[in-house]
Amino acid sequence: MSESVLEVSHLRKVYQKRDVLKDVSFRLEPGTATALVGPNGAGKTTLIRILAGLVIPEEGSVSLLGSQNDRELRLARQQVGFIVESAFGYDTMSVTRNLDLRAELYGKPDKAWLEELRQELRLTPEYGVARREQLKLLSLGQKGRYALASALVNKPKLLVLDEPLVGIDRENVKVVSDLLNRLCGEGMTMLLSGHVAEQLQKICSHALLLDKGVMTGPVPMEEVVEEEDGEEEA
Ligand code: ADP
Repeated sequence: MSESVLEVSHLRKVYQKRDVLKDVSFRLEPGTATALVGPNGAGKTTLIRILAGLVIPEEGSVSLLGSQNDRELRLARQQVGFIVESAFGYDTMSVTRNLDLRAELYGKPDKAWLEELRQELRLTPEYGVARREQLKLLSLGQKGRYALASALVNKPKLLVLDEPLVGIDRENVKVVSDLLNRLCGEGMTMLLSGHVAEQLQKICSHALLLDKGVMTGPVPMEEVVEEEDGEEEA
């Protein structure tokens, strides 16, 4: 078996005496795109916050990119791109400056890559984002695309995105899907959460299902979407 990019073992998280994650275990293989699907309150954000190191679980462990201990885990996080709730950035600075600053946090910014991200994710004047446009003035959809650009500045090996398609219109969902598909094809591993599986179908081949803190799967994406359609019709 190849070395997994992310391995989660027996995670348990308790909030106010209630288990919001119950014995969650899974692994991601390199170059795969996995959906994390579940209704509101299922525990998706809590799981992603644990992966990002923002929340400490009561039990269980996380290994990223083969990390064997806490120090290696912290270092490995520098090769992971996250969107957790809102996008990182300074509201009164421009999109371009924000992306430059974020890239500088990881070392020497790759200017060509940052420009490619701005172009591919339509964060350019032709799509209504002026060169000096302040982050706080972006529309919801533009903010969503900025959040993705910001998670990608360091060309991560693993991308973990909480609800990456929220607020993005149909046309731009295609823009985002095309970019993520290309990056996945080039070997980037992805975990993308959402409460509607259908939206993630164009990117992910299979899904992990989370409900009331209990994980099942992986399940092929078509099966999850079929079930979703059935529930809608019922
Ligand atoms: P999802 O992202 O799937 O909508 P969450 O991980 O946000 O689910 O929430 C899972 C459960 O944990 C919910 O019942 C939520 O109310 C609870 N929860 C999340 N964060 C906290 C917190 N900081 N304190 C107390 N309860 C929390």
